[in-house]
Amino acid sequence: MAKIIDGKQFAADLREKMAKQVTSLADQHQITPGLAVVLVGEDPASQVYVRNKGKQATECGINSIEHKLDESTSEATLLQLISDMNQDSAINGILVQLPLPKHIDADKVLNAIDPTKDVDGFHPINVGLLATGGKGMIPCTPLGSLMLLQDHLGDLTGLNAVVVGRSNIVGKPMFNLLLQQSCTVTVAHSRSQNIEAIVRAADVVVAAVGVPELVKGSWIKPGATVIDVGINRIEVDGGKTKLVGDVDFASAADVAGAITPVPGGVGPMTIACLLYNTLVAACRQHQVELPPA
Ligand code: NDP
Repeated sequence: MAKIIDGKQFAADLREKMAKQVTSLADQHQITPGLAVVLVGEDPASQVYVRNKGKQATECGINSIEHKLDESTSEATLLQLISDMNQDSAINGILVQLPLPKHIDADKVLNAIDPTKDVDGFHPINVGLLATGGKGMIPCTPLGSLMLLQDHLGDLTGLNAVVVGRSNIVGKPMFNLLLQQSCTVTVAHSRSQNIEAIVRAADVVVAAVGVPELVKGSWIKPGATVIDVGINRIEVDGGKTKLVGDVDFASAADVAGAITPVPGGVGPMTIACLLYNTLVAACRQHQVELPPA
């Protein structure tokens, strides 16, 4: 049976360390990081995410500013708000909760965020900096996945890594992060041939596909480390639902050396890394070192 990589505990430890770092920043430099989260509309899932982000930010001592805008808010109004927040020195990180209503061009909005405040790491400048090894903002879910991998494996140099999925928010940044760690990285996607054989060659598998339990235990090399980014709600008996990942946990856990569960694996790391990015952004904007944890 594989070791279970406990992302929930890791994220809690990370938040505890960040709370100490935030206290040091205030004591030594009179800086309190500020995170602004913008929610347009009433999407119930987005409302839960935004509430959790605000709550966890506050627990870490980060100022949480929430802008809840009506569904009918115009693109121009949203762009003006972003422009104002770009100028506001009390705000170090800006996150616009996706999806946005259809009448708003999401790319235009995300590209309007000052790249140094883009704590989601989606701005093309940050995408470019990640691809070229620069000092940008790293997307939260891939960053959290990398932290779990490094905590479990230490140095990743020379390992064969396979990322299943090539989205801009998970697959591609994960590829770049693993390459930076000197892994030999293969990216598989919906058009890949012999995907099972590709995955079976991997020491490290990162699954970010959005297909419930796609990756089976028979695809996994014995002893491999498996990071399951997927979050899928499926129906079970009696009309009930449950969350499952993109990996068939039961069969994969029999073969893998270590595996993240769903829930409780990568999921909790995403908000923790959003707060980490806010802390890093505040330090960079004030040109001070990140205090030791
Ligand atoms: P996308 O739908 O944007 O991308 C899915 C990727 O998987 C695509 O590149 C697609 O290939 C590939 N794919 C789809 N079907 C297959 C298949 N049968 N075989 C191989 N590859 C396939 O999803 P995201 O990257 O946004 O999210 C992936 C998963 O991660 C989802 O379950 C999502 O809920 C979860 N997630 C979790 C987060 C967290 O906080 N833990 C945060 C973000 C996402 P192609 O490009 O060819 O279409």
